[in-house]
Amino acid sequence: MVFEGLANRLQDTFNRLRGKGKLSESDVAEAMREVRLALLEADVNFKVVKDFVAKVKERAVGQEVLQSLTPGQHVIKIVNEELTELMGGAQSKLAISPKAPTVYMMVGLQGAGKTTHTGKLARLLQKDHKKPLLVACDIYRPAAIKQLQVLGEQLDVPVFSLGNEVSPVEIARQALEHAKSYGHDYVLIDTAGRLHIDEALMDELKQIKETVQPNEILLVVDAMTGQDAVNVAESFNTQLDVTGAILTKLDGDTRGGAALSIRAVTGTQIKFAGTGEKIDAIEPFHPDRMASRILGMGDVLTLIEKAQASIDKDKAIDLERKMRNADFTLDDFLDQLQQVKQLGPLDQIMGMLPGMNKVKGLQNANVDDKQIGRIEAIIRSMTPTERTEPGVINSSRRKRIAAGSGTSVQEVNRLLKQFEEMQKMMKQFSGMAKKMKGKKGKGFKLPFMP
Ligand code: GDP
Ligand code: MG
Repeated sequence: MVFEGLANRLQDTFNRLRGKGKLSESDVAEAMREVRLALLEADVNFKVVKDFVAKVKERAVGQEVLQSLTPGQHVIKIVNEELTELMGGAQSKLAISPKAPTVYMMVGLQGAGKTTHTGKLARLLQKDHKKPLLVACDIYRPAAIKQLQVLGEQLDVPVFSLGNEVSPVEIARQALEHAKSYGHDYVLIDTAGRLHIDEALMDELKQIKETVQPNEILLVVDAMTGQDAVNVAESFNTQLDVTGAILTKLDGDTRGGAALSIRAVTGTQIKFAGTGEKIDAIEPFHPDRMASRILGMGDVLTLIEKAQASIDKDKAIDLERKMRNADFTLDDFLDQLQQVKQLGPLDQIMGMLPGMNKVKGLQNANVDDKQIGRIEAIIRSMTPTERTEPGVINSSRRKRIAAGSGTSVQEVNRLLKQFEEMQKMMKQFSGMAKKMKGKKGKGFKLPFMP
């Protein structure tokens, strides 16, 4: 999960603060020392860390906080607000040209994710009923044009290319004409990168900028490169006046320092986050939601948006009814697993649930997509009767199911046991919703939890 280390450390620190009835200045000072170390360890720029801690401290030792009944909560609230501010405050949307077409130009180092994110943006626009045109201006790597064309085909979005004999500036100019004649309302220009910043690259990008006057110059930066990402952002910004950043590979093993430093160091607002190699793996960057993920408060809003975008509404209503009536079967369960899978990799989804990263055993390996695959295989190896009436599954059937799904009898047993508990739980909910108050699902686990 993104920010996992940082999130764990900050949450430990704040749990200690929460436990205290009253806070003294030295409690706050100690917590701030820990916050400082946690941020530095997450590879946040040292000057950013210094300013951040000073700001939080100044607010946190105010009388209002120290005398409040829940001083720990108060400090967390301040950190949340300051983290949000650090990442740019409010969400920043893409500019739209008053006169079509709107032009976006993607810039960044080689391998940062420009081409991939050109495709992802096209996908978002397409979902919004727009007609984007992709433009292949990376003529230097032989496979670059092809890569964009493959993406275009996959999305059914046209790609404008003049091969690799014509200069990128000329390609961009003609693409704009083409877009106007063919009624494209968006033009997304994929440009070349280098392994490091060089003058020839910058000159070419400046000329393209001159020629097409883009509404946005989006700097694509790889979050995995940490502080280097910040340096890259700084130089691109000085040369090109970029209008926003797309921070990619936030799904990777990144400590998150770049996300927390880029805006503060370069003034460039992060507009999108890339969270995977797939075409849908892109999220608008909301500083407040990101801050609350880091502090373990979850990001329920993003989760709901994802669910709305990919879950079948009728199925959800049907499911809810079944759960209320407690006639939820293993078939429904299989269905539900498939819907959850559509939301994205499970560890990312878990990271958006409040407090989830504190539940032991839920991290990484324990709830992976592979495990869901095994559960699916088990259910698929059951007969229709077994799925609706798991009570009939005796020991010889268990053996057969285990063999058929390539799992073990223990795994089949565990799934059945957990499903049984889940059903009991639903019965309780439907039968005596009132009495359940206060019990809060003791001992209840979703079947994919170990
Ligand atoms: P470009 O050279 O800037 O055009 O970079 P590409 O778009 O070709 O991406 C380089 C590599 O990074 C490819 O293998 C992509 O699949 C991968 N990639 C791009 N964005 C992401 C992301 O958000 N997450 C992950 N995990 N991989 C990404
Ligand atoms: Mg590329």
